[in-house]
Amino acid sequence: MTDKDYFTFKILRYDAAEPDIEPHFQTYKIRVIPGLTILMVLLRIRDEIDGTLAFRSSCRSAVCGSCAMVINGKIDLACRTQAASFGSNTIILEPLPNMQIIKDLVVDMTPFWDMYEKVKPYMIRKGDYPDKEIAQTEEDRKKIDQYVNCILCACCYGACPVLARNPDYMGPAAFAKLERFMLDSRDERPDNFLQNVDSEDGVWGCDTVLRCIEACPKDVRPTDSIVGLRKQLVKNKLFGKGKNED
Ligand code: SF4
Repeated sequence: MTDKDYFTFKILRYDAAEPDIEPHFQTYKIRVIPGLTILMVLLRIRDEIDGTLAFRSSCRSAVCGSCAMVINGKIDLACRTQAASFGSNTIILEPLPNMQIIKDLVVDMTPFWDMYEKVKPYMIRKGDYPDKEIAQTEEDRKKIDQYVNCILCACCYGACPVLARNPDYMGPAAFAKLERFMLDSRDERPDNFLQNVDSEDGVWGCDTVLRCIEACPKDVRPTDSIVGLRKQLVKNKLFGKGKNED
């Protein structure tokens, strides 16, 4: 074991319950072995060095989406990022942008969930729900493939430059979820449902700089959904057509 095996982790510390103490970086030295993830580093710091460090985690396998943060300037999940992958032995960890810090790397995700709720992120049917599952063709399922992969990690929300200047903007994940149901052959939400996103706080506010696509750890392309929803809105206005109609 040599000195170069020890990496410096600079972690942003802040506690909203103690607002008199300004956000500041605290430094920890941790021995890094091949395969060690940022989440494992955080767990080691919390368990062995500093029990006051706050961060979220759960599945450790890029499924739950809880450990999203900024890692050396890039938004990603801590559980799928290896400490040795940066070509530098100094690693800076910060909380997701565009949300208030509760403590250290834990942010208040209430605005993210509020926007998500606005698009009614569940299947809507006109009549009673059938007793059996509603079958889909393989072709229909393919239309929603990428959006089904969303794990609601909020990486895209943190990366979005529009949200940085307009907190009322609904954000990429909400649009990706809405498009997931707009394209779903089984969903029967009313044709005028898109009025909910027909504004500058909705799909027309997007700068189309694709930061959400860059940030997404599950290869979802929220910008595709925004383009799709915009097209559908224009079609509805020009031709009075609604969901799933060409
Ligand atoms: Fe996370 Fe991607 Fe879903 Fe955004 S679209 S919440 S980045 S999985």
